Amino acid sequence: MGIQWNLAVVLQRTVDPAIFREGAFCDHNCVAVGPDSGTRGGYTCPASTSLNPGVIGKSLPPAEAVIIWLEHVVAGLNEARDSLLGDVFVEYVRQFGLPANVAEVVSSSLRADPIELNCFGANPELWPGIVSFIATAKEMGLVVNLTTTGKRFMRDEAFGQALIAQPPNVLALSLDEVEDEARLQFLLGLSLVELKREYQKVPRDFGQAQKAVEAIHAARWAEANGLASKLLFNMVVHPGNLGSVYSFTSILASELPNVRVNPYPAQTAFLRQPGCFDAHSLALLEELVDYFIKQTVNDGPVVRRLHYWLMLKAACLIYGADSSLLSDELSGHNIWRCYGRGSKHASLAGLYVQVGQGPSSKLVQMGDSHPGGHLGCFWDEQGTVTHSGQIISSGQVSEYVLGGMQTLAGASKDACPGCAMPRLCFNGPTTESGMDPVIKVTYLELRRQHAGF
Ligand code: SF4
Repeated sequence: MGIQWNLAVVLQRTVDPAIFREGAFCDHNCVAVGPDSGTRGGYTCPASTSLNPGVIGKSLPPAEAVIIWLEHVVAGLNEARDSLLGDVFVEYVRQFGLPANVAEVVSSSLRADPIELNCFGANPELWPGIVSFIATAKEMGLVVNLTTTGKRFMRDEAFGQALIAQPPNVLALSLDEVEDEARLQFLLGLSLVELKREYQKVPRDFGQAQKAVEAIHAARWAEANGLASKLLFNMVVHPGNLGSVYSFTSILASELPNVRVNPYPAQTAFLRQPGCFDAHSLALLEELVDYFIKQTVNDGPVVRRLHYWLMLKAACLIYGADSSLLSDELSGHNIWRCYGRGSKHASLAGLYVQVGQGPSSKLVQMGDSHPGGHLGCFWDEQGTVTHSGQIISSGQVSEYVLGGMQTLAGASKDACPGCAMPRLCFNGPTTESGMDPVIKVTYLELRRQHAGF
């Protein structure tokens, strides 16, 4: 099970000076089209600075409040898991044809594996409590990822040193926007001081390009200072960088030992926008999917998510004759849903819960409560599965996983069409339980080919 936590939630001003909503606090502007209408990165992040005007950095929640929320979420997930391992798991095993020995391994893993906590954003390194929160979460037995831009390693030596004392298990950075192999090799060949100089040349409104330089700097800083975290590079794959993913993967693997890459197609469904791939880029993307299936099976430098790549491959096989349909599917439309597949009942799909800001319609006054601490989805601004109330008990969390998400989605007038976010798809049961039913048979055939069952 897992938790993706938007730790950088703040109050945001509205036209009424006494009334606020919750907004995302970030220091990057990751948009597809810049304020000057010029092309920027291959995707738009809802936490971008230009999409969150009037946010108040000083209103970040204190660590004490966040730790109480975390304790409720961990306890609630465990309660939900115990319940789901009854009839829901039996039905899942039947529907997805798991052999008894595999079902035993999966249920033991769900019972015993530590919960993963992905400290996420907006930009989580802007939250003053981040290092002590990582330490507390690890003391609670969680596996902790810090998914961050890495900018703070450039400007705050004390932050880096504090992380050395309390390292997250994984430091996850972003490499979405590097022009070509020569530029990547060039950046990897720079010293830490030279990387800081190079950073100054990147346009300030081009968050994805800034993050790439920050990421190389953070990786080199981690190497030079002995940070014990594993390194992971997320790559949002879009038509502009599709051709570079292979070479970037091998360059990173040769330059940074023990690194893993985590590429995934740019997601647009939660923005209620069509997919961004034309017929040519879809053909390249399918080749990339085949490549990452092989890399996963052969223990290449990739995050091990065979279920994820097989889901994408099944979508390519089923929808390949219609490029518009396939583009939409790979960009999130219908391919997978955290709230399961049209059932009012609990499913295993939602076992990677998200916590963060409340719905944009929820207005508050200064001093009402600390911002954040809502169960919901970071990506879907319509708030399909987002609670307007904050977390107050473990029971509330388990109810959310055991049918609350489905109830919220059922009541939504514009429910999220889906996404293929690899972290949220997470593992076999989660992916399969939320998967587009049309691709299921093909997926199961691929699973037999590549996983043996
Ligand atoms: S399917 Fe769920 S997790 Fe994915 S974007 Fe939509 S609401 Fe969020």
